[in-house]
Amino acid sequence: MPSKAPGLFSSMLASKLFKRRMLCGLVILLSVGLLSASFVTMRAAAQTAQAPSVRYDFQFIRQGQMGLVEIDGANLTGATAVAMGHTYVCYPTSTGAACPIAVPMAQAIKDTPLSITINHADGTTTPWSSSFAVASGQFIATNFVLPGNLMYLTRDDIQINEDDRLLSAYSIITPTRYWDGGFTPPVKGGLIAPFGEARSYTGSLAIRRHTGQDLQASMGTPVLASANGRVVLSRLMDIHGNNIIIDHGWGIYSEYAHLSQRYVVPGQFVLQGDVIGLSGNTGRSTGPHVHWEISVDDVWVNPIEFAKIKLPQ
Ligand SMILES: [Zn+2]
Repeated sequence: MPSKAPGLFSSMLASKLFKRRMLCGLVILLSVGLLSASFVTMRAAAQTAQAPSVRYDFQFIRQGQMGLVEIDGANLTGATAVAMGHTYVCYPTSTGAACPIAVPMAQAIKDTPLSITINHADGTTTPWSSSFAVASGQFIATNFVLPGNLMYLTRDDIQINEDDRLLSAYSIITPTRYWDGGFTPPVKGGLIAPFGEARSYTGSLAIRRHTGQDLQASMGTPVLASANGRVVLSRLMDIHGNNIIIDHGWGIYSEYAHLSQRYVVPGQFVLQGDVIGLSGNTGRSTGPHVHWEISVDDVWVNPIEFAKIKLPQ
């Protein structure tokens, strides 16, 4: 199966960094409401009787969400998908291949072509094409009140430095799939701040997109790994506070921020449900909670919606 070429990934990292920096400077508030994804099922016909079958269960993907394209067929050696000007890696599955298609929060709302090139063992390829709509992420806008002693954490230089550190943690795409089953939230607490929320900070011109979901958790609540994976970051950071990032393979990472305690170290392999730390109020945080993030192919996606997707096993 194709692996992500270093040059390609470097450019993707640069692309995400650019997008994050654009978000740092975003001064236009988007005021829309949160709406859960409502995917429908659609089957695409193969081009010939011998051609592999391409399946995907969405007609649209919302900004900040992911769709999964699965390819069934014998003797496949790989596939790549192209959409929104981006090349997506497809990974081997028991029946063929699967391509996670993550849509950035800032992606334009419109129909977009989806092209897939399927590679066969005999050296031939099968082209396949369709389209889907990028739909609104229905993000809300909030005036976020920070205490005066934390206002310095809205500075662009601090945000960019922290983004750079996070990007270095995402710099390796692991082709191995570590997860076994679906992804689960790190705590049982309800949602207290949604993904994609556009936050303005009192006394500051900066507006930030919320890149994860804040889950209710009293101080010291055990924080559980969302799925099997390898820890790639465990450190105290200015904005994220005590922060942990886990690599789950296939370019999927989970992140757990503002912890009071970290129990894991980089390189350590954890299983789904393992206690990796305790909830807290460190970094740019105004009360105990867990900030839960999921990044797919270097794109932040809505963690709760991501966890609803039936991933290949
Ligand atoms: Zn948060």
